[in-house]
Amino acid sequence: MSFESVTPARYARFMPQRYRLEANYCAKCDLHHFPPRQICKCGNKELETRTLPDEGEVLTYTIIHTPGSQFSDERPFAIGIIELATGARITAQIADTPFDEIEIGMRVKIEFRRIQTVGEAGVLAYGYKVVSM
Ligand SMILES: [Zn+2]
Repeated sequence: MSFESVTPARYARFMPQRYRLEANYCAKCDLHHFPPRQICKCGNKELETRTLPDEGEVLTYTIIHTPGSQFSDERPFAIGIIELATGARITAQIADTPFDEIEIGMRVKIEFRRIQTVGEAGVLAYGYKVVSM
C-alpha cells in the first residue's frame, strides 16, 4: 500500500474503534456498550456493531484545573459525560465553549480533534471532543 492510496475513509478503517464511535448493541437488553465488549452482562454474545450518533447532550460536567502533564497546555478545560441519542454515554472534553455557557442538557456535537501532544517529539494524538451546537 503506497502512502498516496490512504484516503481518509481508508484511514478511518484502521483507527481504533473508540475514534469511530463504534459500539456493540445487545438486542435482548436494548443496550449499547461503549467502548464495545464481546459479551453483554446478560451473557449474550450475539452483539451487533453499531456506530453511535455524533450528537448528544451534557449529562454532567466538571472543570479540570490540574490535569496530567500531557494535557497541561490545555488547562483549565471542561470534561463532560455526554448522553447520545441511543442512551450510550461517553466522556469527552467540551471544547470551544466558555465555562459559564456550559450547562446540563446543552446540545453538543462530537468532533474529531487533537487531544494531546505525546512526548518530546510532539507526536499528536487524536480523539473526540464535543462542541456546543
Ligand atoms: Zn444483554
